[in-house]
Amino acid sequence: MSSNGYPDSYYAATAIGTHEYPALTGAEQADVCVIGGGFTGLSAALNLAELGMQVVLLEAERIGFGASGRCGGLIGSGQRMDALEMEDHFGFERSRQFWDLAEAAKSEIRDRVAKHDINCDLQRGQLVGVHKKSYVGWPQQLAVALAERYDYPHMRALDREETRSLVATDTFIEGLLDSEAAHLHPLNFALGLARAARDAGVRIYENSRVSTYTHKDPAEVYTGNGSVKASFVVLACNAYLEKLESRLARKMMPINNFMIATEPLGEERARELIAERVGVHDTRFVVDYFRLSDDHRLLFGGGENYRRGYPRDVRGFVRKYMLRIFPQLEDVSIDYAWGGAVGVTVNRLPHVGRLKPNVFFGQGYSGHGVSTANFAGKVIAEAIAGTAGRFDVLASLPIHMFPGGTLFRYPGMVLGMLYYSLKDRLG
Ligand SMILES: Cc1cc2nc3c(=O)[nH]c(=O)nc-3n(C[C@H](O)[C@H](O)[C@H](O)COP(=O)(O)OP(=O)(O)OC[C@H]3O[C@@H](n4cnc5c(N)ncnc54)[C@H](O)[C@@H]3O)c2cc1C
Repeated sequence: MSSNGYPDSYYAATAIGTHEYPALTGAEQADVCVIGGGFTGLSAALNLAELGMQVVLLEAERIGFGASGRCGGLIGSGQRMDALEMEDHFGFERSRQFWDLAEAAKSEIRDRVAKHDINCDLQRGQLVGVHKKSYVGWPQQLAVALAERYDYPHMRALDREETRSLVATDTFIEGLLDSEAAHLHPLNFALGLARAARDAGVRIYENSRVSTYTHKDPAEVYTGNGSVKASFVVLACNAYLEKLESRLARKMMPINNFMIATEPLGEERARELIAERVGVHDTRFVVDYFRLSDDHRLLFGGGENYRRGYPRDVRGFVRKYMLRIFPQLEDVSIDYAWGGAVGVTVNRLPHVGRLKPNVFFGQGYSGHGVSTANFAGKVIAEAIAGTAGRFDVLASLPIHMFPGGTLFRYPGMVLGMLYYSLKDRLG
């Protein structure tokens, strides 16, 4: 943990405009109490305040302490499940509806960054690298379907040579370039959202862990030193929820995922590695993802575990995934290594909804949460203010319980992961 209360990450070391918000003491009242200061909670709070509501936001640690301040920062198009698979599950009409929501989610990020002048190094362009033969042809199929049926002409299939001209690795057989996907410095985006929320009148409290809440009317939310009475509660704790609400925990599994930041590579070497500063991820089940920082480091994410603790040597753990893609970085030292918890659902689709008439939640974005969590916060705010159209569409996604419930989901998950990572290695 670094001295400013954040994990010792590259993001914490380059945070812009951290502000120490007070801890909650005494009794407060509000229209809405938001629990959790990541993208879901910050966006819900900001949008609610803009809709004229009195809002209190309670964060157990620091703003962006959870996945939002630690993640890869890649902003993909569509849902975590691609549009062709969505069509197989839900038919074209619904798949198109979910695609349109995801496009609105991407726009919302661009609009927020512009509106509040958030300095978070937002960059356009993302490449998916195909790592195994059985996926060859998928980029072309998806790009054509999106152009023809989804009015999205911004994806292009690349052959091996073109892919290699963008990313200096021999591991990709093909690529899919999406010129309208993006990436950003996630902690700086979260801190910018918090500033905007504060300026819009949200009362933000850090180091204010909620121990329990009631959902009568008004609801009462308790921390160690204070309480909030509110007409509505928004649960935005995601993979850090722990025991606060077991009905949500059953449908979401926290998985640890890890990242490293290399030493600065210098502009030339960095550009040789990844041209045009596109964000990149591959097609592996346990995905490798990476991008360049504005000070020419490689930020690389790879590897996960399914227990409470982290591997003893996170640096070494992630470095081996980095060297599998970029063996030419053998000589490069690693300046930062960190991990965070991702909330995943059984089918990798977001879990957004209403637990009680006055209790809303968003979680389980399954590694696709930069835009989806931010958007979930917005549609939750819309629903609380009385316009539930987009919320209802998102909330209609079917999310099942993990086999084994909260007690036995981990052994089942480990077996499942072993199976999929073995499948990944077979051509
Ligand atoms: C290493 C890593 C890499 C990732 N990479 C990507 C990526 O490249 N692209 C992408 O789209 N997604 C990525 N994700 C996922 C993405 O970061 C998340 O989906 C998203 O940030 C979730 O936001 P959130 O607000 O729902 O949750 P979080 O950001 O986790 O916020 C939850 C907050 O709730 C607080 N909290 C918990 N309990 C309480 C309590 N009782 N009282 C008060 N506060 C509480 C926590 O302290 C935390 O700050 C990644 C995640 C990780 C961990």
